[in-house]
Amino acid sequence: MAIRVLPEGIVNRIAAGEVVERPASVVKELVENAIDAGASRIDVELEGGGKTLIAVADDGCGIARDELALALERHATSKLTGDDLEAIATFGFRGEALPSIAAVSRFRLTSRTPKADTAWSFALEGGLKPAAHPAGTRVEVRDLFFATPARLKFLKSPGTEARHALDTVRRLAMAYPNVAFRVLDDGRLVLNLAASQSDLLGGGKDRLAKLVGREFAENAIAVEAVRERIHLTGHISLPTLNRANTRAQFLFVNRRPVRDRVLAGALKGAYQDVLASGRHPIVALFLESPTDSVDVNVHPTKAEVRFRDEGLVRGLIVGALKAALKAAGQQSSTSVAEAALGSFRPGRLPGRATGSPGTSLRNRPGLAEAAAVYHAPLAAPAARVEEAPSDEDVQAYPLGAARGQLHETYVVAQTAEGIVIVDQHAAHERLVHERIKASLEKNGVARQGLLVPEVVEFEEEAIARLIERRAEFAELGLVFEPFGPGALIVREVPALLGEVDSRALLRDLADELAAFGEATALKDRLLEVCATMACHGSIRAGRRLNLEEMNALLREMEATPHSGQCSHGRPTYIELKLADIERLFGRR
Ligand code: ADP
Ligand code: MG
Repeated sequence: MAIRVLPEGIVNRIAAGEVVERPASVVKELVENAIDAGASRIDVELEGGGKTLIAVADDGCGIARDELALALERHATSKLTGDDLEAIATFGFRGEALPSIAAVSRFRLTSRTPKADTAWSFALEGGLKPAAHPAGTRVEVRDLFFATPARLKFLKSPGTEARHALDTVRRLAMAYPNVAFRVLDDGRLVLNLAASQSDLLGGGKDRLAKLVGREFAENAIAVEAVRERIHLTGHISLPTLNRANTRAQFLFVNRRPVRDRVLAGALKGAYQDVLASGRHPIVALFLESPTDSVDVNVHPTKAEVRFRDEGLVRGLIVGALKAALKAAGQQSSTSVAEAALGSFRPGRLPGRATGSPGTSLRNRPGLAEAAAVYHAPLAAPAARVEEAPSDEDVQAYPLGAARGQLHETYVVAQTAEGIVIVDQHAAHERLVHERIKASLEKNGVARQGLLVPEVVEFEEEAIARLIERRAEFAELGLVFEPFGPGALIVREVPALLGEVDSRALLRDLADELAAFGEATALKDRLLEVCATMACHGSIRAGRRLNLEEMNALLREMEATPHSGQCSHGRPTYIELKLADIERLFGRR
């Protein structure tokens, strides 16, 4: 068979296969181009979920008349001025998006530079024509995949495709609060974001509230840290506000939305002490890194990046998040208190108007469980109220002064601004957990030698990964040595673990290393053991406490990091502000 160089049309269609998967991918490329063009407002129009029409209009720098056709040529770009692939500060640089999209749709490019006195419009069929358009660019993509029915078949319903496209715009909008965004879906305005005048951090917060939700904005901790030349800024949720999946985690590298296993692993590491496994924080985090320490050219759609020093990035994130969580340690999310409020209100106050903010919050997913803990009626006859502490005591402490115990389970305290209800068992469990952890850190992990050292065999890469981290594992009490290719011999295990299946433990560790670059499994298991021991050593629900004991518990909680959540991520206390209580009684 003769070898031939493929004609350009085919080459573009092949490239489209990589870059253009669905309407959302077209939207991504076009909106990125608009941002690269310095636009301050970007309008996206969809018809039929983007299958019939995708139009993106901006007020950016525009394209000069004699460059319109060139923009549709393969590998034609204005963004790579030198030949330095390591200094890319724009979304684009490959010059592939427009020709690829044009190869699989009916495509029209209309543009006007600020200085030109008229706009020009270019289409593959029909060529160049004068047009009416303000300064900026409008790209129209009609009948996507009309010539490739196989692709068309894979698209989902217009509603689903529109949702993906909207999601793409929302992610980009998060990193560009100074740009106004609008999305019209079949004529309906589904996203309308005004440009914020403040900087990324300040303006970012308003926009976050709009895009991720007010609940997040109210229960988020700000994070800011620098290591070497890498900056981290953004917001993370208090552990009590968490989700069952990672969909509400928004990560950006140099303002580019990314999916990245290094970053995902770092998040997991940062929260592992304060969240049950299987629960995930909500985050919006922005890494700014010099262009030479991150490679964005590893994936055609550039959704993945590669850091030159993964350990550095990981350390930066884990360190910054842990510090922020610790500083916010005693806080538990306001939504929990709101959920509790909601649970008091209906039923117990018959005849009152319903539909309070508390009531609706209560029904939000994930909160019902938290609310259920606090169903104990406040005016229970079992309440024991003892001698009242002085007002100074009340003012002095964040968790206030204990006033009594309800149902042998909840400690009620009065604070300067309201009341605090503590779940004594959950609180104490966290305190014991932290004590054990602190002693682990101080005295190291007791090891226990195996009578018969165990030989473990896995595939060679897995063994190599484990051997590489041998010193760290030894610190945690797990001691092993290489034992020929594909095998190692285990000599000691952490005493805390008791009888342990070392093969299963190492298998988990090897898998975690492969997935996240850091093994959390061993630490997890140690912490799980701590948690179990803590649970046994704790004040059980149902034990009577006197005022002194209650106050001691409150004071220790104030002095202990992470005391706002028990070892399983549930809140240890809730606070009701006087204002909330007044609202309950219709005083406000
Ligand atoms: P890339 O973004 O990688 O350069 P594209 O195929 O997406 O490649 O775009 C090709 C070129 O067309 C860009 O480099 C830019 O010069 C021009 N262009 C595309 N969209 C716009 C726009 N909205 N405003 C101004 N110029 C644009
Ligand atoms: Mg581009």
